[in-house]
Amino acid sequence: MISDVFCKIINGELKADVVWQNDEFLVIKDLHPQAPVHLLILPKKHFTDLNDFKDDAALLGRAMLVVNIVAEQVGLDGNGYRLIINEGDHGGKLVPHFHIHLLGGKRLGPKIVQ
Ligand SMILES: [Zn+2]
Repeated sequence: MISDVFCKIINGELKADVVWQNDEFLVIKDLHPQAPVHLLILPKKHFTDLNDFKDDAALLGRAMLVVNIVAEQVGLDGNGYRLIINEGDHGGKLVPHFHIHLLGGKRLGPKIVQ
């Protein structure tokens, strides 16, 4: 059984600041925000990385719709935001449970890496 920190949050074993959820996704605040708004969109079913969505690509599409809902809820829909998916060692992935970073609340500029 896989038991990364996000699975523990989803299972209620660890607390997190939950912003939004439905039966498929949980949206929480990042513990170490890199922007005034920094949220994580997590599928409640464990997916390690993008490769795991081969059998359920529609879920990945629905994750994008969750981004849209949450961005509006937290007031990012007017000025925009950035999405980031970190994959693997070079991508800087820290938790082996697929997640999408949603960042906004200030002008982030065109560069992804400083
Ligand atoms: Zn997990």
